[in-house]
Amino acid sequence: MTPKTAAPRAPRRAAKAAPLAEESAAITPAISESASLAEAEAATTDITFADLGLSAQMLEALTDAGYKKPTPIQAQAVPLALKGRDLIGLAQTGTGKTAAFTIPIIERLIGGPHRTRALILTPTRELCVQVEESFTKYGRHSGLDVIPVYGGVGYEPQVKALRAGVDVIVATPGRLLDHLEKQNVVFDEVEVLVLDEADRMLDMGFAPQINRIIAQLHPYRQTLLFSATMPPEVEALARKYLRKPVVVQVGRRSGAATTVQHFVYPCPKDKKSALLAELLKQKAMDTVLVFTRTKHGADRVVKHLERDGVKAGAMHADKTQGQRTKALEDFKSGKLRVLVATDIAQRGLDISGITHVINYDVPQQAEDYVHRIGRTGRAASTGDAYTFMCADEIAMVRTIERVIGQQIPRISVPGYDFGT
Ligand code: AMP
Repeated sequence: MTPKTAAPRAPRRAAKAAPLAEESAAITPAISESASLAEAEAATTDITFADLGLSAQMLEALTDAGYKKPTPIQAQAVPLALKGRDLIGLAQTGTGKTAAFTIPIIERLIGGPHRTRALILTPTRELCVQVEESFTKYGRHSGLDVIPVYGGVGYEPQVKALRAGVDVIVATPGRLLDHLEKQNVVFDEVEVLVLDEADRMLDMGFAPQINRIIAQLHPYRQTLLFSATMPPEVEALARKYLRKPVVVQVGRRSGAATTVQHFVYPCPKDKKSALLAELLKQKAMDTVLVFTRTKHGADRVVKHLERDGVKAGAMHADKTQGQRTKALEDFKSGKLRVLVATDIAQRGLDISGITHVINYDVPQQAEDYVHRIGRTGRAASTGDAYTFMCADEIAMVRTIERVIGQQIPRISVPGYDFGT
């Protein structure tokens, strides 16, 4: 990040009180649902970034990013994090949660000593890169150095960068622990720890690595935990590592993004690829993220689409990091109209402007449905989410409907539905 020297900090204005922030001695009771949430979210709508007490250079960076006002999670979390509070942010991706922790960290670090003072742990490489990009975007006038540290790529450049000293490390737990054990990095001066998508990290089996990393940190630090869901394991993690956390929450806990329109297409299994090709005839389907259950399934769909002349790429764990990054870049830049991914891509990916998400296979978990369709309808835009449902998948769709608390309308396409 440039320039190296930080501009003087603008005087801080008193931050407006954040509605919905709940002091939480016991974590669970503070995670409330329902109407009061909607009211609290509505109350945040007239808050501006200036009201949050941000520095002049931060306000400039946010204007440069084209943001007009904070999202509800930002309006709630930023003032509390600026005060140094520990936080539990219950928000799924697409709500602006990354900026909700990035902004206060940058504000804290600006103009301070050049040491590793903030550490962000993320579940996937893709999310790691995205968080690093957010630091670069919001910190462009701050002079802070930030590096992403994740596996699957060369070790040496990371060693060099870590040894040279950085202000902020964004890392996946496995690779970071490697570096820690080889003493390529020391955490003596880390003041802020972020556990991003904590539920996902635990799902991926990172608990041992997280514990070992945190054991190296100073106990008197600020800890911010973000999670889309609050299963008992995440709650236990929060109890262990957070001190008197304040819980902030946007949306219903399992609620699907409200800007998304959902539809289910009943369709026999062997007609799904033809149905996809048929739907892609619509020009409005501009940037389409397709999810399949398996890697082979993803490759098969890409082949089929390419045969039909649709530019598509695959993204899954069998692809090298280089191939994954390239596929994502081509998709973001519009070179690829369709990206076909397995679960690896379902969380955290910030691909602004996705017009459609297609569940080629019905997700195995209702929560995954919520996360997948969170890829579209991000921040203020709207999007469509289509789910192809074969006979074996009817029960799973019903479960999803129960969890999200709404019925998903069915669309029957003659020639591709069960009747034909
Ligand atoms: P996240 O939930 O952090 O993955 O962010 C979702 C998307 O919202 C990203 O594309 C951000 O650039 C965008 N975003 C974050 N904060 C704002 C804001 N205050 N106004 C408009 N867009 C935003």
